[in-house]
Amino acid sequence: LAVVLVATLINAGDLSRRINLAETEDELGDVANVLNETFARLEGAFARQKQFTADVSHELRTPVSLILAHAQGALLHEHSPGEYREALADCAQAAQRMKTLLESLLDFARFDADTEPIQREPCDLAALTRDCTALHRPLADAKRLRLEFDLQPTPCHADPARLTQVITNLLTNAIRVTPADGTITLRTRQDGSARFTIRDTGSGIAPHQLPHIFERFRRVDASRTRATGGTGLGLAICKAIVEAHGGSIAVESEIAKGSTFTVLLPPRPLSRSGAPD
Ligand code: ADP
Repeated sequence: LAVVLVATLINAGDLSRRINLAETEDELGDVANVLNETFARLEGAFARQKQFTADVSHELRTPVSLILAHAQGALLHEHSPGEYREALADCAQAAQRMKTLLESLLDFARFDADTEPIQREPCDLAALTRDCTALHRPLADAKRLRLEFDLQPTPCHADPARLTQVITNLLTNAIRVTPADGTITLRTRQDGSARFTIRDTGSGIAPHQLPHIFERFRRVDASRTRATGGTGLGLAICKAIVEAHGGSIAVESEIAKGSTFTVLLPPRPLSRSGAPD
C-alpha cells in the first residue's frame, strides 16, 4: 500500500497498519522506521489502557454488587436491629474497599496526567525508613515480627512523601506476608546509587509470578482476593513512583523462604529529562 494510504489508515485508528519500508526511498525509509516504532508504542499503550479500563470496571463491580445485595436483602422484609447493623457493616466494608481502590486510581491518574510533578528535595533514605517503620511498628509487634535495621546515611534527591509511600507499601506487604516470629530486615546504602532493600521471611513469590508482580491488579496471594484483600495496585504504584524519580525497583524471591525488594534511586539531582545532570 502507498505510504500515504497507510498513514491515513493509521490516522483513522487502525494502529496495526505499518508502512512497507521496501517501497520507500532511503531517507523516507528512516522516517518510516521511526514512525513505525512510534505506532507500535502507541498500539501497546492503547491496548494497556483498554485492559486497564476493563480491569477497573471488573474490580469495582464486586464491591458495588455486594453493597446492592446487602441493601436489597435488608429492605426485603423487617429485620432485627442486630441484622440491620450487620447489613450496614457489610455495606461499609465494601464501600471502604471501593474508597481504597479509587484513591489508588487517583494516584495513577495524577501520575499519568503529570498534574502533581515530583517535588525533589535533598532527603535521606535512612531517616525516611526509620520514620516509616516507627509508624508501623505496632502492626509488626502484633504479629511478633522482628524488625532489623542496617541503615547508613543514604542521601538522594527525591520527593520524601512519595518515597514514604513506597517504603510503606513494601513494609506493610512484608508485615502481611511474614508469619509470626519472622524477621523483616531494612537496609539503606549509598553505593553509587541510593539503595533501599527490604527482606522478609514470608511466603515468597512463585517464579512464574515474579515477572508480573509490579503490574496493575496483579495478585499472587489467594487470600488477597478481590472481595477480601488488597487492590493489587500497591506495587504498581511503587514502580510508578520510583520510575518517576529516574530509579528502578526489583524483587528476588524464593517460595516459603521470603522476598527481597530493592529500590535504586539516582543520588544526584536529575535534569528535567530524567537523566543525571
Ligand atoms: P495488594 O495491595 O493486593 O497487596 P500489591 O501490588 O501490593 O497488591 O501486591 C501484589 C501481589 O504481590 C499481592 O498478591 C501480594 O500478596 C504479593 N506480594 C507483595 N509483596 C509481597 C511479599 N513481600 N512477599 C510475597 N508476596 C508479596
